[in-house]
Amino acid sequence: MAHLDAYNRPISYLRISVTDRCNLRCVYCMPPEGVPWRPHDQILSYEEIEPVVRAAAELGVSKVRLTGGEPLVRPGIVDLVRMLAGVPGVDDLAMTTNGILLGRYAADLAAAGLQRVNVSLDTLRPERFRRITARGELSEVWAGIEAARRAGLAPIKINTVVIRGLNDDEPVDFARRTLTESWHVRFIELMPLGVMGPMDDEWHDRVVTAPVIRAQIEATLGALEPAKASVGGGPARYYRLPGAMGTVGFITPISEHFCYQCNRLRLTADGQLRLCLLSDVEIDLRTSLRQGAGVAEVKALLLEGIQGKPMQHHLSDRQRPEKRVMSEIGG
Ligand code: SAM
Ligand code: SF4
Repeated sequence: MAHLDAYNRPISYLRISVTDRCNLRCVYCMPPEGVPWRPHDQILSYEEIEPVVRAAAELGVSKVRLTGGEPLVRPGIVDLVRMLAGVPGVDDLAMTTNGILLGRYAADLAAAGLQRVNVSLDTLRPERFRRITARGELSEVWAGIEAARRAGLAPIKINTVVIRGLNDDEPVDFARRTLTESWHVRFIELMPLGVMGPMDDEWHDRVVTAPVIRAQIEATLGALEPAKASVGGGPARYYRLPGAMGTVGFITPISEHFCYQCNRLRLTADGQLRLCLLSDVEIDLRTSLRQGAGVAEVKALLLEGIQGKPMQHHLSDRQRPEKRVMSEIGG
């Protein structure tokens, strides 16, 4: 049974950023020159991550997601998947990736025990993809998605951050793809985190809210019908175009926050337990782990985190987290 926090929310989900490094430079995630990477000795080793997951599972966390930075650039990532797939109590092991290296790793990840992937994809246009990511090739992501499908990493969810002036003319194209592909496309509202490159000061004007996206889609493709979530139990609300194979979902941290149902904790690449994506409150696990803390001690720290989890974020009061960039936390 998952532990309840101070606001009666069952905490059942741990997201782990396995690296702050990335092979892309998405304009809304980091500046084009990148951010200074943390030295290797600050990053948790796999042997340090495993007891954290074991402790979390003993406290009722059943769902674990690996993210980054880009998780597939970390050497040995398949070994970490294998280690975590063997932790009793973890029954949903997933990854969020930009998909560039998925063609190479999908089959090995599935064989090691990964169950599914979310692929982040903000545009269907090759030229625009290069512009948004500063260095990526869209064809590699297609190959990655296809490899994931063949490997049985299903269902495939596509995460699309919609940003005014960047890709807000594409939601209809994404939604149209769900007619013939069993993709679950989720449109995500832009959030302010640390340094966001060129759109740092203007992020609020760049947010395209879910109602605006929904209206665009319905004006062209017809009414969306409510649909059931596939798997995962996250904050997205799902819909389906009549007869479509896939679904369209909305994740609305800005227009309609879902903090009241938040079930998650986050582990940053450098070993800090982050209690809310949009608040800088953290508990240092790395120091304790390196001083010899075992599963029992880590459990006590996790419980402290669960009890201290903030009720909600405070973006509407103009308080935004400043301490970290998104790539250190993992979304
Ligand atoms: N590199 C992997 C990827 O892109 O999927 C995993 C890490 S990335 C930080 C996780 C997710 O956060 C991606 O879907 C990305 O689009 C999203 N993201 C990054 N910066 C964001 C922001 N400022 N607002 C909303 N989502 C953001
Ligand atoms: Fe890298 Fe993901 Fe951030 Fe893009 S969103 S720069 S792929 S960490």
